[in-house]
Amino acid sequence: MDSEYSHRKLSHLRKVLERSGPFCRPDFEPSSESLKFLMQTCKILVIGAGGLGCECLKNLSLMGFRQMHIIDMDIIDLSNLNRQFLFRHKDIGASKSETAAKFINDRIPGCNVIPHFCKIQDKNEDFYRQFHIIICGLDSIIARRWINGMLVSLLIYENGILDQSTVIPLVDGGTEGFKGNIRVVLPGLTACIECTLDLYPPQITYPLCTIANTPRLPEHCIEYVKVIQWPKENPFDCSIDGDDPQHINWIYEKSMERAVNFGIQGLTYRLVQGVVKNIIPAVASTNAVIASICCTEVFKLASSCSPSLNNYMIFTNTDGIYGYTYEAEKNINCLTCSQTIKEIEIKSIYIKLKDLIQLLCSKNDLQMKNPGITANISGKIKTLYIQSVPSIEEKTRQNLSKTLFDLGLRENSEIIVADVTTPNTIMLKIKLLKNS
Ligand SMILES: [Zn+2]
Repeated sequence: MDSEYSHRKLSHLRKVLERSGPFCRPDFEPSSESLKFLMQTCKILVIGAGGLGCECLKNLSLMGFRQMHIIDMDIIDLSNLNRQFLFRHKDIGASKSETAAKFINDRIPGCNVIPHFCKIQDKNEDFYRQFHIIICGLDSIIARRWINGMLVSLLIYENGILDQSTVIPLVDGGTEGFKGNIRVVLPGLTACIECTLDLYPPQITYPLCTIANTPRLPEHCIEYVKVIQWPKENPFDCSIDGDDPQHINWIYEKSMERAVNFGIQGLTYRLVQGVVKNIIPAVASTNAVIASICCTEVFKLASSCSPSLNNYMIFTNTDGIYGYTYEAEKNINCLTCSQTIKEIEIKSIYIKLKDLIQLLCSKNDLQMKNPGITANISGKIKTLYIQSVPSIEEKTRQNLSKTLFDLGLRENSEIIVADVTTPNTIMLKIKLLKNS
């Protein structure tokens, strides 16, 4: 097939794969078979065709991987072009995954990238099961949690022992401005995304006293207008729409007044947009570093030529360059990957259903988004509340202000929770907090 090309271009890989060395994994056997495996057999799924995805696809194809799929639901926007280098001006409006796949296939002989222009949630277990390794470059935590849940659900246990052939490694990269992280998850064996959910802070917020009394940053002025002045003056008789230029302009002018009063500089229209819409600028160089480390991990996993990252690395290049690796530990009570019965602790059985939902969303180790709840009440499965289906929402809305007791729940009752953060429902046993 592409032997001439591979011979020339991939000779550097042969040096790694066909010779032994002091840093090789003990089970590594140098041979020409490894490269053959990478090129002919090893099937990789790249999730996300954005800043990280473009980098990953480019790196992996130059590393010899030929059998790749890429999945992304987005289309190309003008603002992507400065860093998503597989796209050109003429591609604006086209599918990211399809355009990226075509670019790579045209450029690298023998490369077979198959695009999927859809959400990851549109694909089922059989689709994900076909891959040897999955690499993720996403900006959405919900999507990350979902794919993590999917890979954990593919695990097969026999008599409580994990069948290791069902483990599909997940290499996950993320960036935020000048910071980034990489993690290698071996579902069922090492910490999964949900095990360390508390690493994701719910959202950046500034202390109210700072924004109200002692603003120091332009962001503080914008937050002040957003959180305090807007609800008070209600200029457009509605809540803030980050895509409405009139709204942004109003916030811009008001926060500018405040910035001038406090002698704060650096407030711009773009920054206002960024703060209101919670956008953190993407930095091409950070993406390049994070993607390169992710792809090296994929290469190590696929070839066994070196031990994998164990298992979490952070990187920042705000002041100089700094990197640090540590081992995130498996949470024995992890909602997704532990084999234990999961519990939810509540103050009293007389709290209302809406309080329970609020708890599912606010608890650090759950962080659900719009949980739907069914329950097993005296042997019958009953829908208590589902938000995502309008007709059911309407029928079950009245339950929100009923107490759990009135709905028939007791201590040790089981509730079944469905949420966008997971592909499978989660069974939770109700427990009362001991000191109440
Ligand atoms: Zn876990």
